[in-house]
Amino acid sequence: MSRFPILRFAPSPNGELHLGHAYSALYTAAKARELDGRMLVRIEDIDWLRCKPAYAAQIFEDLAWLGLEWPEPVWRQSKHMAAYTTALDRLDRLRLLYPCFCSRKQIAERAKNHDPDGAPLYAGSCRLLTSADRMKRMVAGEPYALRLDMRKAMVAGGRGITFMEQGEGETGRLAIAPERWGDVVLARKDIGTSYHIAVVVDDAAQGITHVTRGQDLFAATDIHRLLQVLLELPQPVYCHHRLIGDEAGRKLSKSADDRSIRSLRDLGVTPQEILQELGF
Ligand code: GLU
Repeated sequence: MSRFPILRFAPSPNGELHLGHAYSALYTAAKARELDGRMLVRIEDIDWLRCKPAYAAQIFEDLAWLGLEWPEPVWRQSKHMAAYTTALDRLDRLRLLYPCFCSRKQIAERAKNHDPDGAPLYAGSCRLLTSADRMKRMVAGEPYALRLDMRKAMVAGGRGITFMEQGEGETGRLAIAPERWGDVVLARKDIGTSYHIAVVVDDAAQGITHVTRGQDLFAATDIHRLLQVLLELPQPVYCHHRLIGDEAGRKLSKSADDRSIRSLRDLGVTPQEILQELGF
C-alpha cells in the first residue's frame, strides 16, 4: 500500500538561509507538487549551543518570501529530545552502544583514516575498555559520547540493506556501506543526542515518505538506513539534490560571501530572480 507523500525541508537554525537552503526548500516543494503530496518544515535545533530562535524566525520569513507554504505547527526537534533518548536506550539494550571518553585531540592523533565527511575516523580505543573501567569513569563524572559499535550493528542489521534513491545523481536501489563511518557518535558529549538519531526518529514519527536533501548528506544515508533497520522504522525514498556553490551566489549578489537570502533581499533581489537563477 503506498502512503500519502510527505516531504520535509529540515533546516538547522544556526545561521541564515543561503541559496543552497533555498534550492533545497524549492526542490522539496517542487517534488511534493509532483507527487501530489505535502511539504512540512522541520526545525532541527538539537544543538542548543549553536541554534537561535531568531534564526528560526528568519528562516520562516525567508521561506514565505520565496512563496512557500507549510502546515503549522512546525516540528521542532528540541521538543522531542525524549524520543531520541528512547531510541538510544533501545540500541543500548541491543548492546550496540558504548561510551567514548576520548577528546577531539586524542581522536585525531589516533586516526589512521577519514570518514566520508573528511573527519578523522575513530580508531575504536574506548570500544576496548573493560566494563569496570567504563563504570569507574562514568561514576567519576567524566563526560562521554555514545558510539555505535559498527561491526556489531552491521551483524544485527543483517546483510543486503539498500535504499531507493530518486534524486539528481545516481538513482535506483543502492547498497549501503556504513562501515566507512566507523563507530559513529549517536549521542554527542555536549547535547546527549545526534543528528543521525534525531533525523531517523523524526522522519518516522512524521511519516516522511521522501527525504529530500543535499548531496552532502548522501553518504550519511548509510547510517540512517542501518538505524532504521535496527530500530524497526519504515524506510523513506531518498532524493539527494545538487549543491549550490559559489557560482550562483556570485551571479546574484555583489560579493561572494554575501549570499544569505536576507542579504540578497537587502540588495533588492526579487524572489522571482532567485527562483529563476536556481532553475525553478
Ligand atoms: N538539518 C540538516 C541541514 O540543515 C538537514 C538534514 C536532513 O535533511 O536530513 O543540513
